[in-house]
This record gives sequence, structure tokens and C-alpha cells, in this order.
Amino acid sequence: MARYARVISVLAGSIIAVAGVAEPAAWAANPHAAKQHAAATSAQLPKGTAAAGQAQQGGETAGEADVLETSVTADGVAHVVSYTPAAGVTSDQLLANLAKAGKKGLSKSGGGTAQGSSAACTYYTWNTAKTTCPSVHWANNGYTRPQVYFVDHTGPQWPVPSATYTWNTAARIDSLYRWATCPGISGTHCVNLYDANYGATGWAGLTTWSYYTGNLNFVDGSVVIKFNDYYSYNSYGYLQDSCHEQGHALGLDHNSSTGSCLYYAIRNSSATTVPNSDDFNLLNWVYSTVH
Ligand SMILES: [Zn+2]
Repeated sequence: MARYARVISVLAGSIIAVAGVAEPAAWAANPHAAKQHAAATSAQLPKGTAAAGQAQQGGETAGEADVLETSVTADGVAHVVSYTPAAGVTSDQLLANLAKAGKKGLSKSGGGTAQGSSAACTYYTWNTAKTTCPSVHWANNGYTRPQVYFVDHTGPQWPVPSATYTWNTAARIDSLYRWATCPGISGTHCVNLYDANYGATGWAGLTTWSYYTGNLNFVDGSVVIKFNDYYSYNSYGYLQDSCHEQGHALGLDHNSSTGSCLYYAIRNSSATTVPNSDDFNLLNWVYSTVH
């Protein structure tokens, strides 16, 4: 474990090292986003890249939203897959691709407010999210804080240790890192993460989960993250995707602020590689109740 701790601290150090870069004009155009951005110890895209220089009025752009595949089975369990479009792929193209592959119950994230279907709605502040986006959550199972192991099967390019470290700073839920094996400790949960060349599917990453419609608890073993190595990214892209999918795996929906890695159209390259204060506040609120 000491070895992992060192890796994590090195990665965390590299985030802090770039946190001081100048903010793009978009933040100045949106006071709310600017405040959130200032509050987060976030890594921005380096100044000088094309993406960082683009001004985005209002902090929101017509990015490419996740595509959701949802169904409910007769046993009171809902099943969701949230697909993050690859760079250069539109939500509509991804949706058409998935439909062609026989996927049903498809919709674009960003506008919906479906009760209890995590990632089917988008929040701007954690306070409004309390009523509009009831999140799916992990059961405490006797622990003060739910214990979630991110079980990493991915290659070294995917910064799962770093994203796990970041999410673990949330006060009321523990995000723990494991290499390759679920520890199988009673009452704890495991989220498996895989990467592979899944081909030209149109999605860069996906999170799949099931939950009980009665109490909105995640179904153990159902939450899986996949990263598609068919597409390549810069280091910011890898971290964005890891942070984004792991946020879904904790029960968070999409954030309409580009200051969050849970921005609903993550492929908008101005989105940061870390959560913002609303993400953490929402997690704290959700897990202030024992589930
Ligand atoms: Zn998403």
C-alpha cells in the first residue's frame, strides 16, 4: 500500500503544480463559475492550447452530452449505462451508433430530471440538486461512511489512483484504491474499472450501474467503469474521464458548470479534471443520511 500512496502523492503533486495557471476568459464571463473555480484546487488546461483560449459566454457551451441507456426490470431494479462521447463524436452520432447496435431506452443527458436515475439530470448548484436530482447512493452497511473500493484493472495511462485520491477527500464517503482485486470485506463495495480497445464505438468511457428503485441504493457488483483505448487523449483527457466516470460511480449526476469534471458534456475541453465544490457539497448532503 505504501507504494500506491507514493504514486498517489506524486500524481496529486503534479495537479497542484499546474493549479496556478491563468484562467481562461470564460471564468471572468460567469461570476458563479469563477467563484466555483476559485474554490476548487483544480488543474486547468495549460494556457496556450487552442481549447483553453476559447471564450465561452455563460460558462456553458453546446458540448456533447453523455448518452444514457436506461431500463427497469420487473424485480424493481433499474439499469443505467452512461456513455461519454469520444472527442469529435456528437451525442446524436453516438446515440445513432448505439441504436444500431440494438441498445434501447436511449436519451441524451443534460435536460432530463428523471427521478432517481443518476446522471439523467444536470445540476448547477448542489442546493437545487437536492430536490431535482435525487441521487443513487451506496449503502452504509454499518459503516459511518460507505466504503467504496475502486478496483483498478486499467493500464498506466488511466490515472485511477489520482482520481480516487481526489474523490476520497469527500467527507462522508470513503473512496479506496485497490489494484486488480476486490478485497471482499463484508459491507464494503467494489467498483471495477477496465480499459481496452473497444473499437470505434463513439464513446470514450462509460459507467454502468443498477439500483433498487425502492430505496435508490446501488446494487453491489453492478457498477462498472470502462475506458475505450481506441481513442487517445492528452493527460488532461485521461484525468477528466477518470474523474467523471468515478463521480457517477459514487452517485453523482452531471454538473452544468465547466468548472467540474462532471460537466455534462465532458468532451468540452474546457471542463476541469477535478470536481468542484458543488459536487462535494452534494455528496456530503446525500451521505449525511445513513442509507
Ligand atoms: Zn457522464
